[in-house]
Amino acid sequence: MVSSQAVEVLKNEIPVEQESLRLSGEIKTGLVLVDIVNGFCTVGSGSLAPPAPNKQISKMVDESVKLAKVFCENKWPIYAVLDSHNPDVPEPPYPPHCLAGTEESKLVPELQWLENQPNVTIRNKDCIDGFLGSLEKDGSNVFVDWVKANEIKAILFVGICTDICVLDFVCSSLSARNHGLLSPLEDVIVYSHGCATFDFPSHVARNMKGAAAHPQDLMHHVGLYIAKSRGAKVVSDVSFGI
Ligand SMILES: [Zn+2]
Repeated sequence: MVSSQAVEVLKNEIPVEQESLRLSGEIKTGLVLVDIVNGFCTVGSGSLAPPAPNKQISKMVDESVKLAKVFCENKWPIYAVLDSHNPDVPEPPYPPHCLAGTEESKLVPELQWLENQPNVTIRNKDCIDGFLGSLEKDGSNVFVDWVKANEIKAILFVGICTDICVLDFVCSSLSARNHGLLSPLEDVIVYSHGCATFDFPSHVARNMKGAAAHPQDLMHHVGLYIAKSRGAKVVSDVSFGI
């Protein structure tokens, strides 16, 4: 079965109903950018970067830039997590990637202007889950503080990978919300076209001992499905205005 047929079967078996989101500023919404760094998005930028231009990843970057611009124009809060690792601390099962201080762990060129924006909080993280990666040594959590300080009622998630770092951060946010840690947060929203995952097709993995296949469209869909099944809203378009 070719991958596109598999995706169609999957979309029939585990459909993900998607909504539209209209942002007017009435409901205080925060934008979370997950790992939109060179090491995951820029062609040839390290062991986990795309080896060639990739449509899903380019679309994710374009959509994230569009959203970031509107959020900055309106001075709405943005929280950006950047994968950033100490070279002495491995992150199995992944090969070394996004080492602290390297180009790999920096925002992609299209988003580097965010570093100087007053409404943007940037957090380096050394693990998959951005919620855990926001924990400080004293037990406080920069992400929790960001939600509370900005009185955020809805969070819109974009970034990479749909089924890995985005998913874990979304799921932890849902659990933290349900556990009463993120008041006044109500909605956790994932923008499907603002997310992407990497492509490692099964026909390639099959010829490499020990390699796990990761077909892009299929795993992107699975990521959205799990996020929704845990209680996130999934939206296929985001517009602005009253
Ligand atoms: Zn990492």
